[in-house]
Amino acid sequence: MSIEQKYVDAAVAHRRALHKRPEPGWCEFETTYRVVSTLKDFGFEVKFGLDAIEPAAVMGRNEAEVDAAIARAIEAGVPQTFIDQTGGFTGAVGLLDTGREGPVTALRFDIDCVMVEESTDPEHEANQGGYASEIAGCMHSCGHDAHTATGLGIAQWIADHQDALKGRFILLFQPGEEGTRGAKSLMEKGWVDHVNYLYCCHIGGDAKLGEGCIAESGFLATSKIDITFTGAPSHAGSDPEKGRSALIAAAAAALLMQAIPRHSQGASRISVGTLHAGEGRNVTPVHAKMQVETRGATHEINQYMRDNVYRICEGIEKTHDVKVDVVTVGEGTTLQTTKEGTRILSEVMREVLGEKFVTLPSPGASEDCTFLMRRAIECGADCGYFMFGCNHKGHHRANFEIQDEVSLGVGLNILARLVEHLNGR
Ligand SMILES: [Zn+2]
Repeated sequence: MSIEQKYVDAAVAHRRALHKRPEPGWCEFETTYRVVSTLKDFGFEVKFGLDAIEPAAVMGRNEAEVDAAIARAIEAGVPQTFIDQTGGFTGAVGLLDTGREGPVTALRFDIDCVMVEESTDPEHEANQGGYASEIAGCMHSCGHDAHTATGLGIAQWIADHQDALKGRFILLFQPGEEGTRGAKSLMEKGWVDHVNYLYCCHIGGDAKLGEGCIAESGFLATSKIDITFTGAPSHAGSDPEKGRSALIAAAAAALLMQAIPRHSQGASRISVGTLHAGEGRNVTPVHAKMQVETRGATHEINQYMRDNVYRICEGIEKTHDVKVDVVTVGEGTTLQTTKEGTRILSEVMREVLGEKFVTLPSPGASEDCTFLMRRAIECGADCGYFMFGCNHKGHHRANFEIQDEVSLGVGLNILARLVEHLNGR
């Protein structure tokens, strides 16, 4: 079985429109509007904004960025009434009940972009196709536009085939996956507490175009940490002893963090990614801001790295007599799946892909759908994770490409066959 071409064509059209208007985490208002309108057209009941997510569990949401995104969305034609209904929060959940007794199947798709400026190379796919990013500094360079489009594609397929299906569907369109900031807000809303199945997927990785693979474990647990140092000003020439340098405190902290001893029980990582400090050449620097991330092969190893970062900050506060504020703005854990969830997925992938169903090393980055999967498993669900491939030169790069006409078809075929397998009559 292969799904009809019209589903692939529609998904490609959505993907290209989304690619043109990439929005970072918690700023996905145009994207959410497209998702909500499209799901409603297909006959789904749709919850969005504050009806889809738990605001207390939202991480790393920047109010100023959100305001700018809302203004941009309105300018692009998103109705003010819709923005008002979101309560200022993005994300959507589509619900469809076939009216027949059967399993509850949840599928999760992330919708945000990466802070990357898209390549201007005329050979680049999006430039060739005339759908390059119109938003400066933002690009779908991790393929979440493809995920959103695939989610809409499978929604259409489910709606069209619901007479042949049983049970219920919950399609989760998750904001803020980059920086692992969004999944917890869906989890805390309880969307996966009463499901029988939860499946998540990602395009690309090590899978080539036409290929697909399964991940049973992997992903590093991670914490994203923002640190603000506040010192005291003074004239750097006439009375340096009266100042407290936030810059020197931050620099010292950065070196101590990179020197955290590595863990014997598995991989550990730390990255001091940004450091901005100082006001002027002859002023003792009062402000410094630092973005740090830790990762670990297990939840415990990441916790060890994270605890060390917090302790270093406490020490620096005393040593340098500056104020240090530490906030965790994103978190992800390691991937958990179930044997049964993976068994079903393997059967489906083998059927759809044949010898293009490949075995690849488990993913080494991080993903926050891991929280949703953990919760679903705790509540008794079966879960699985798959990747559908594309030929690319690296995620999060300005020249990331996905060959949507082929790759989206592969993703949709896997999902449609999976849905048929789980919820077919
Ligand atoms: Zn991604």
